[in-house]
Amino acid sequence: MARTQNNLKIDLNRASPIWDSQDRHTRKVLVVDDRVENLVATRKILKKIDAEVFEADSGNKALSLMLRHEFAVVLLDVQMPEMDGFEVAKLVHEEEKTKDVPIIFVTALSKEEHYVDRAAEIGAVDYIYKPINSNILISKVQVFVDLFSQKQELKKLNEALRQNNDELERFAYICSHDLQEPARITALYSELIKKNYGEQIGESGRTYLDFIIKESLHMRKMVTDILKFSRVGREPLEYEAIDANLIVKNIIDEFKIDIEAKGATVELFPLPSINSSPTLLSVLIRNLMSNSLKYQDGKKAPKISVKAEEKPSHWLFSFSDNGIGIDPKYTDKVFQAFSRVHGKSEYPGTGIGLSTCKKFIELFGGRIWFTSDLNQGATFFFTIPKTHNHP
Ligand code: ADP
Repeated sequence: MARTQNNLKIDLNRASPIWDSQDRHTRKVLVVDDRVENLVATRKILKKIDAEVFEADSGNKALSLMLRHEFAVVLLDVQMPEMDGFEVAKLVHEEEKTKDVPIIFVTALSKEEHYVDRAAEIGAVDYIYKPINSNILISKVQVFVDLFSQKQELKKLNEALRQNNDELERFAYICSHDLQEPARITALYSELIKKNYGEQIGESGRTYLDFIIKESLHMRKMVTDILKFSRVGREPLEYEAIDANLIVKNIIDEFKIDIEAKGATVELFPLPSINSSPTLLSVLIRNLMSNSLKYQDGKKAPKISVKAEEKPSHWLFSFSDNGIGIDPKYTDKVFQAFSRVHGKSEYPGTGIGLSTCKKFIELFGGRIWFTSDLNQGATFFFTIPKTHNHP
């Protein structure tokens, strides 16, 4: 039986307007046929396609090429001695590295029509009848070659995006980490100047110092919040059985002084025990509690309530207050980092708390949103899935 050379390369005689020369070489087509005249004929037709064409005259050679190259599509002859096309396709689909490579079966219509069903069962994406119609072959192969290029481009873009995100997060982490100390030192030494030289610098000097202290403390808080924000997702997700009541009670304890000072009441409805992350729940409740106590008009005592409702796939938590509320037009804005709706002088803050909550909860497969009307208080809802798909 006639045999051919391996890895025969055909001319690239059709310039593509989209792909540059480097990309062009990554577009590879494999033709598998035991008959040299078929390989020669197919090679001739495929000259019109902007891709590198490889040839194999047996199933074994095809498999070995497929392990070494990423093909856009494989044209596989059904009838071959030793290992037929179906056996080759089965092995290809069983192998992790090659399982997604599209296969077009090449089959002789008269004898092999019934193979079409089998080809589909095995996972061939298409088939073409012998004698090959060159226009049909070109259009079918072209579709897969273009699809392959688009997939490669998408992969490259995704990788670049992932690297950019990683770099940005690392940058934010390093910046915020290194900025913490200068902010702390500025506040500390301003305090010391005020304490030890307050008399000498007079009232306006002390006012200036108060301003420096206030702003450097704000900067420190900002830096700490950015650090927390950039840390989300850098550490592995943790899951354990947690009693949500305990977590919320601990946070209420943390805010005890503020709660008492404002005469606030916190109504805690029975909460479930869930399989989730204690850090996630603490971050959420701490932020929501801090906001509910802060965004008040000062005319009435804050009233806060925390509830949870069981849904088929998740727990729905709600956190309500009777504060100044949020205009619903800011629905998206409040969850964006550094976005604030209320004035900084009246309500100090960094605008990072809710974006951290959102980033965190989405990592765990949950959602967060709110309902509110101006001056009517706000209710924040968040979901915690009952099961998780992470390892
Ligand atoms: P911060 O409180 O540090 O500004 P957040 O990210 O926690 O940052 O909140 C973003 C914005 O959403 C706040 O600036 C505020 O305008 C609004 N907000 C958040 N929680 C409430 C609430 N409970 N009531 C009214 N407004 C709120």
